[in-house]
Amino acid sequence: MLNIILMGPPGAGKGTQATRIEDEFHLPHISTGDMFREAIANGTELGKKAKAIIESGGLVPDEITIGLVKERLAKEDCASGYLLDGFPRTLPQAEALTEMGPEIGRPATLVVDISVPDEELIKRISGRRVCPSCGASYNIHSVPPKEEGVCDRCSGKLIQRKDDNEESFSLRLSNYHQQTAPLIEYYKGQGIYHGFLGTVSPDSLFEEIKALLEANR
Ligand code: ADP
Ligand code: ZN
Repeated sequence: MLNIILMGPPGAGKGTQATRIEDEFHLPHISTGDMFREAIANGTELGKKAKAIIESGGLVPDEITIGLVKERLAKEDCASGYLLDGFPRTLPQAEALTEMGPEIGRPATLVVDISVPDEELIKRISGRRVCPSCGASYNIHSVPPKEEGVCDRCSGKLIQRKDDNEESFSLRLSNYHQQTAPLIEYYKGQGIYHGFLGTVSPDSLFEEIKALLEANR
């Protein structure tokens, strides 16, 4: 069973790999960041609560995030596998997943962690462009779309995220080191952790991840 947690610092390339994993293994791609951005775009209650936090680079409170993910994972399309991208991001979120996963028949089975040094992340972030329609991500320097400003997958118009500015990014990065990086030890302890170096090309990284997933499906 492929019940995957995709981990890594902001800008590591989780979105890029998630899109490829989704297309190759047909798993529902559950990105908490995308869910929050959709809520913001739709002006829902959740969106109103999350907007300022996200744009400044902070973390949405655990209770809100955990509730959202629990509801999403319980849906039928997650019964034969899922790809969690951006959750868990804190120890309480990881502990909640360890508890609720088995309860709803969705225990996480594999953690795919992509690591990239901070200097490289800072370089990448200004070039990042994303497709709000399908969630694909690009980098104008290293992973450009075939046609400038247009999504290869769905022809959507690419945008630069509001939180991809220097100030929000440095907060996201320090939150990552303080709150998310400790999950590496947590998942090593559960025996489901697999680390990858995210500084190779997106294609070679995908080949490595694919081999792991094929061996575990
Ligand atoms: P990135 O990995 O590039 O930082 P995401 O799209 O995963 O971007 O997340 C964007 C923002 O959404 C985060 O900076 C945070 O504000 C919020 N967010 C996403 N996932 C979580 C989470 N699990 N817990 C708290 N906040 C989250
Ligand atoms: Zn798209």
